Parts: sequence; C-alpha cells; structure tokens
Amino acid sequence: MRKISVADPVIGEDELRLVTEAVKSGWVSSAGKYIPLFEKNFAKFCGAEHGVAVSNGTVALHLALVSLGIGRQDEVIVPTLSYIATANAVSYTGAKPVFVDSEEPTWNIDPAKIEEKITERTRAIIAVHLYGHPADMDRILKIAKKHKLFVVEDAAEAHGALYKDKPVGSLGDVACFSFYGNKIVTTGEGGMLLTDDKRLAERMRFLRNQAQSPSKRYWHGEVGFNYRMTNLQAALGVAQTRKIKNTITKKRKIARLYAKYLSDLNLVLHPEARWARNVYWMYSVLVRGGKTRRDRVMERLAREGIETRPFFYAIHTLPPYRQKGDYGVAERLSNQGINLPSSPRLTQEDIEYIAQTLKEVLKHA
Ligand SMILES: *Cc1c(COP(=O)(O)O)cnc(C)c1O
Repeated sequence: MRKISVADPVIGEDELRLVTEAVKSGWVSSAGKYIPLFEKNFAKFCGAEHGVAVSNGTVALHLALVSLGIGRQDEVIVPTLSYIATANAVSYTGAKPVFVDSEEPTWNIDPAKIEEKITERTRAIIAVHLYGHPADMDRILKIAKKHKLFVVEDAAEAHGALYKDKPVGSLGDVACFSFYGNKIVTTGEGGMLLTDDKRLAERMRFLRNQAQSPSKRYWHGEVGFNYRMTNLQAALGVAQTRKIKNTITKKRKIARLYAKYLSDLNLVLHPEARWARNVYWMYSVLVRGGKTRRDRVMERLAREGIETRPFFYAIHTLPPYRQKGDYGVAERLSNQGINLPSSPRLTQEDIEYIAQTLKEVLKHA
C-alpha cells in the first residue's frame, strides 16, 4: 500500500553542501558567516530591512513582544484559531492573550470582531496567516493605528504569501517566522524576526544574546535570553531560501490540482481571497457536518495510507486558556478542518489518488 505523509522536508544537495561546509569550518555555534547571510537573504525575499535569526518560531514571537516592551498588565489580541505558540508567547511575557473569532473567507482573525476586545490595556494585535493564507492586513492595520497598537505578524505558516502584492513579513511592526521541519523553509528548528525598524532590530539582537552589551563583553544590563540560531541551521536556511520560489510554485500547483479533483465533492476548499496569494502551507478542506464525521474521514484516509492532520483546537478551548465566548466560526473550522498531504514532492498521480480515496470515504462517512 502507498504511504503518503502530510508533509516532508525537501533537503537536497545544496543543503548538504552548505551544512557540510559549515561543519568543516568549525563555526558550529552562533557565530559564522551563514547567520548574517541567511538573515540578509530571507529578509530581502520578504521585502524587509532587517532579519534577526533565532532558535525557533515560538521564541521569535516572544522576542518580538518583549522587544516591543509588552509585559505584565498588558493585553495582546490573538486569533483563537492558531497554533498554541501564538498565545504562549504572549503568556511568557506576563501579558494576557485576548482571543478573537475567525472569519469565514480567509479562516483568519475576523477584523470585525477585534475592536470589541480592545481595552486600555491592549498593546498589540498578532495577525496569524493561517495555513498559508494572509490575514486581511489593511483592516487590522487600520484598527491598530486608530488605537495605537503594535501589529506583529505570525507568518510561521506563510513564507512568501502576498497580501495585495506585498509579501507577508513586511506589513506590520515586526514579523515572526518558523523554520520547523514541516514549514515552507526549514532549518530543522529555527525562526526569524523581520522589521524595517533599525532600533527595534538592534534591541532584538541584544536581547537574543543574553542582553550582552555590544561593546563590553560579559556586561549584561538586563535579563536577556539565549535565543540564538546556529551557523549549521543558517547554512540549511541559506540553501532552502535559494529555492523558496520553486517550493511555493509547487505548493500552488498542488493546490490547483486539489481544487480541480475535489471540486465536485461536498467539501469547502481552501480559500484564496482575490487580494491574496495563498502559499497553501497545508492544503486544507472543511468536511461538512460535525467533528465526529471529520474524524471518521481522517481515520479512513489513514487506513488507505493517507496521512492527514486535524485543524488546531481553538486555543480558548485548551486547558491553560479555557474560557467561554463568541468563537463560533473558529470552533466550526476547528471541528471540520483537515490538512491534506502537502509535500512539494507529491505527484499529480498522488493527488488524484488522494482525491479519489477522499471521494469514496465521503460517500460512506
Ligand atoms: C510553527 C508555528 C509557530 C512556532 O514555531 P516553532 O518553530 O515550532 O516554535 C508559531 N505560530 C504558528 C502559527 C506556527 O504554525
């Protein structure tokens, strides 16, 4: 039986060559030429001035918030439908994540439901570009401007996505990326912050490196962090960034094929707003009906060798954050959503097979 995994990193000769070079150079920790090179190349690809590489996407979010001065007593608006890291990063600062429901057309934070959650303690909005689709940034930025809030992009799932022809990662005050093994660019574990603000970038570099004075070794003026990326990770990142356009082309091709083969099934397909270029990190569909039906569909696909993932649980339903509220859209998306296999290595044949199997499975579920 065929086995089709939901994602797998595409690591080629280029990656091997650069990582080997980094290992042989002896620069295996967080000094070495690949770190600034990766920062420069990735920031340039996203149209941002400064890149600050860190050890993973979660600490990127934490470092962004701390560097903006967010802490105890503050509130940060986040979509409830996201990966847990979005909310946890807020909690690490001592601030409180305030959840907002999703909107149907993009599966992202509903801009129409943000303002009712703003209080005098609100300091920032984290806009997550879920599963590769950019959030509706103009509406979010407008609200932020009106209430003098920072905007942090959580672009961990959307490397190379476009919002009205502008790359995500260049739209707010600071953007955070993840380079985990299943992300569009991977360094194994890794992350990056992007900003156009030179002083903010300096602050992030300073706090990343234990808040050590740039001019006085072992002088630490405040409590910082070791959030550094290694040269080995950065070497992988440089090679991955060289082929990111190709990776995105493949993701979009996979999405087109899914849309074609799944069009006559009773599913909601992965959206793409007319102002967006979705990079389809995980090509996703909604199975109509309840969670039980969705879970049954996933189980039957697994029996046919097709690995899938359920959508994230809405964060407000998870034990550390459990609370009641008006999150009906996010809850429904969470219960109905499936991430289908989305590896750039999938062939047209694979996708036909997945679509055909899904068709059969839906008939009996
Ligand atoms: C992957 C991811 C992160 C965190 O990244 P790690 O590198 O795993 O720490 C944050 N936010 C979202 C939306 C993600 O998908």
